[in-house]
Amino acid sequence: MPVTHRLAVLGAGVMGTGIATLALGHGLPVTLVDIDESVLEQARRSIALDMRHARLMGAAPDTAPGELVTTTSIADAAQATVVIEAVTELPGSKAAALAEVAAVVAPGTPLISNTSGIPIDEMADWVPRSAELIGTHFMNPAYLIKMVEVIRGPRTGAGTVAAVVDLLTVLGKQHVVVQDAPGFVTSRLLHPMINRAAAIVGEGTASVEAVDALMEGCLGHPTGPLRTADLIGLDNLVDSLNALYERTGDESCRPCALMQDKVEAGDLGRKSGRGFYSYRKNPS
Ligand code: NAD
Repeated sequence: MPVTHRLAVLGAGVMGTGIATLALGHGLPVTLVDIDESVLEQARRSIALDMRHARLMGAAPDTAPGELVTTTSIADAAQATVVIEAVTELPGSKAAALAEVAAVVAPGTPLISNTSGIPIDEMADWVPRSAELIGTHFMNPAYLIKMVEVIRGPRTGAGTVAAVVDLLTVLGKQHVVVQDAPGFVTSRLLHPMINRAAAIVGEGTASVEAVDALMEGCLGHPTGPLRTADLIGLDNLVDSLNALYERTGDESCRPCALMQDKVEAGDLGRKSGRGFYSYRKNPS
């Protein structure tokens, strides 16, 4: 298969590894960048396991995988034709990573942010060429979930939109384009709902299992909001809720006490082995 895109993925956490797995599984080369070498080590192991999972689930074509390079230096992203930023949901971290990568890639390279909720137009002030910035909201696991929300900011260029649509097509994804706003569509709906589910447990109305069982059995939620929270990562949820609360003033987005307590205790969900539920950690 001819290589059509060369990706740089910034951030090798939950989403960065999932997006890298997706691209590698479709034969595209990926340079995966993180500030922490131990995260990159873990990411290489996760990607190997996730590639097998993607193949078993029929989510990756029968093609030779792309080449993976991992690095702590953003300068190694210089040859990328597309950048996907999947850095911690903190404006300072994202601003630093985007400004740094924009300085090393060729002008015209689409800069895609996988933010959960920071408006794309706010982020456009952090890069020198605002027309190159666009949002995609890959869901977790990125290599399995078929649909991607695409966020076109008011300054996003038509060429950037076209390049991202082409990339998503190469990756076998469907997409829906929405307008820019805090949380866009999916986070604006999902994050307050998860926050409320956690608050209900914190208030003693029902157990974690009971909330999930009711949402699954009565309302058709596929996994329950609290199991979903563990999959997302409770630290990311608290950061994303704070980003939404600061930009909307909506009280339903203020992280509830139980969620904050869990993050303070290091119970971050699947990634730490315990959140609302307990998990066996991947052998490392
Ligand atoms: P994560 O905490 O698992 O990983 C973030 C990674 O970014 C960390 O490994 C951190 O070391 C790295 N990082 C921080 N600053 C960096 C920098 N300057 N350069 C390179 N790497 C840097 O977070 P995540 O869950 O993977 O989320 C990443 C992004 O995707 C966030 O914006 C989040 O809101 C969004 N998102 C997450 C989910 C989910 O289910 N977790 C779903 C959709 C969108």
